[in-house]
Amino acid sequence: MLIHTIAEVREKVREWKRDGLTVGLVPTMGALHDGHKSLIEKSVAKCDKTVVSVFVNPIQFCPGEDLDKYPRTLDADEKLCTDAGVDIVFSPSAKEMYGEGHIMSNDFLTYVIPPYFYADKLCGKSRVGHFDGVCTVVNKLFNIVQPDFAFFGEKDRQQLIILKKMVKDLNIPVEIISCPIVREESGLALSSRNKYLSEDDKSEALVLSKILFNIQACYKNGITDVRALSETAYSYLNERHSLEYLEFRDADDLEEKTNADDNTVVFIALKIGNVRLIDNITLRNLC
Ligand code: AMP
Repeated sequence: MLIHTIAEVREKVREWKRDGLTVGLVPTMGALHDGHKSLIEKSVAKCDKTVVSVFVNPIQFCPGEDLDKYPRTLDADEKLCTDAGVDIVFSPSAKEMYGEGHIMSNDFLTYVIPPYFYADKLCGKSRVGHFDGVCTVVNKLFNIVQPDFAFFGEKDRQQLIILKKMVKDLNIPVEIISCPIVREESGLALSSRNKYLSEDDKSEALVLSKILFNIQACYKNGITDVRALSETAYSYLNERHSLEYLEFRDADDLEEKTNADDNTVVFIALKIGNVRLIDNITLRNLC
C-alpha cells in the first residue's frame, strides 16, 4: 500500500500496535535495487509488518550535489516492495516532512546533530552537514513509524555507526539491525548512484572493491601495518580515479588505526568523473 501522508501511516501503525504486532522500518531514498531488497527481506522475515520509506531527503544533500537528478523510480520501487511482502511504502513529499518554505533552510528546522567525532571525518569531511540531515530525517521517521526494528546497510557504514550512536544517546526505543553489503558478481557494491555510470565508468568503478579485497588478502597474509596496507592501493589507481579517502578505522567508534585488527573497517571514497562512490570492508569478515 502506497501512502504519502504522515497521518495515514500513523493510523495504520496504531492499528498494528493495538493488535500487538511488531513493526520493521527500512528507510531508503528509492531507486531500489537488490541491496535495498536484502534489507526489506530481513525486515519481512523478522517483523509482523514492514514499512519501507522512499524519500529523497533534501536536507542531507550539500549545495552542488545531485539532489535534483537523484534517480526517482517510485512505480518500480512500489512493485519491488509489494512483491517482497512490504505492508506500507511511505513516500512523503518534502513539504509533508518539512513544511512549506522550510526545505533546505536551517532557520526553521530542529536538527539532530551527531557527535562531531563521528560525523566530521570520512564522508563528513567533504559533505558538511550531511549526517545532521541523515540523523534528522531518520529520527523523524522513527517518530512517525515507531518501529521495533530498523534495517540499515553496511554499505553506508559511517551512517550506520552514527545512527546506532544516536539511538543510544537519545534513548530511542528501536533496535538497529545492520545488514551486509550486497555486491554485483564483479565486486561492485550496489548503489542507486551506479545508475550515473557509463559501461566504461562501471569497469573503472571496480577499483574500489579491488583495493578493498586486496587489502583484506594482505591482512590475511599477516600484514597489519596500516601504512603498508594503504600502499597496496596505489597500483590500482589511474588518472580517471580521484581518491577522496582510504582510511582504517575502528568498527565501533571510528577511531583511526595504525595497526589493523579484526575490528578494523577499511573505508574508501573516490570519484570517477562526477560520480562519487563509497565502499568499505570489515577485516574480520575473513573466512
Ligand atoms: P539509500 O537509498 O542509498 O539511502 O540506502 C537505503 C539503505 O539501503 C541504507 O541503509 C543503505 O546502507 C542500504 N544499502 C544501499 N546499498 C546497499 C548495498 N549494496 N548493500 C546493502 N545495503 C545497501
